[in-house]
Amino acid sequence: MKTTDYLVKSITKDGKFRAYAVNATQLVERAHEIHGTWSTASAALGRALVGTLLLATAGLQGDAGMKVKIQGNGPVGYIVVDGTAHGTVKGYMGNPHVNLPANAKGKIDVAGAVGKQGTLSVTKMAPTDKTPYTGEVNLVSGELGDDFTYYLAQSEQIPSAVGLSVFVNTDDSIEVAGGFMIQVLPGASDAAITRLENTLKNMPQVSDMLRHGATPEDILHKLFGDDLKLLDKMPVRYECDCSKQRFARALESLPIKDLKKLIDEDHHAETVCQFCGKKYEFNEKDLQLLYDKKVADTAADKELAAKKKQAKKNQK
Ligand code: ZN
Repeated sequence: MKTTDYLVKSITKDGKFRAYAVNATQLVERAHEIHGTWSTASAALGRALVGTLLLATAGLQGDAGMKVKIQGNGPVGYIVVDGTAHGTVKGYMGNPHVNLPANAKGKIDVAGAVGKQGTLSVTKMAPTDKTPYTGEVNLVSGELGDDFTYYLAQSEQIPSAVGLSVFVNTDDSIEVAGGFMIQVLPGASDAAITRLENTLKNMPQVSDMLRHGATPEDILHKLFGDDLKLLDKMPVRYECDCSKQRFARALESLPIKDLKKLIDEDHHAETVCQFCGKKYEFNEKDLQLLYDKKVADTAADKELAAKKKQAKKNQK
């Protein structure tokens, strides 16, 4: 299938506004297929995926990664999304089986599913970085677009506007999903900001535009007319990079007695990736290897600690 999903980065010709727009229909459909999300949950997870995609492609360098956690008091519980600067995302949620009636405006009730109270946190981590940076804000609406906007303003001091939109069909499949993000750069005039606010107020929803065949470029032109320089166009997709090795490391971090119990009582272990649903089997032999390595590592650690202690004593 030909992909319709891509993201466009642009800047206004005067360099005062940065604007990104994305069509993420197929990647949100993929998330729906993996997690079996019901309609309102699909929209909540979809908006979180699109929001993270916009934040990650704008705010990360190279191979750095981003983890967005939304913990609201609504029925979906938590939502976790990982994103990269390369336009890949993956995510999961506490309860994917949430289907609520439309809200008072006749729209899908994402705030009802997420909850109006709670937190949104964003952790950025470079591959070599041992101390990740985390910013956290309280939810302001639970609709998620406003919450990402508030995060950028409060935690990163970037005045911005984030619009996130998912249209779910009656059979729970995703008709369209996408969004935009505008960041106000230093030197933007009050008049230009007011003009933008008016444009945003009168603009149709992103899902309406996408359903009528608009491209990410069309959305950007709707926002800023021809006053734009397109900087980059990149594919986006739902991608999980899990591996048996990664789950082996997780098993290895279990206490020795728990590993021993897995071997003696269960004779195998099965792990399931929360992001993509892939299963990994560890047979008794796999587990025994992990156990032997853990025992050897622990012995080596003890020896090293004893040596350090002895060296300290000798110094005194
Ligand atoms: Zn996976």
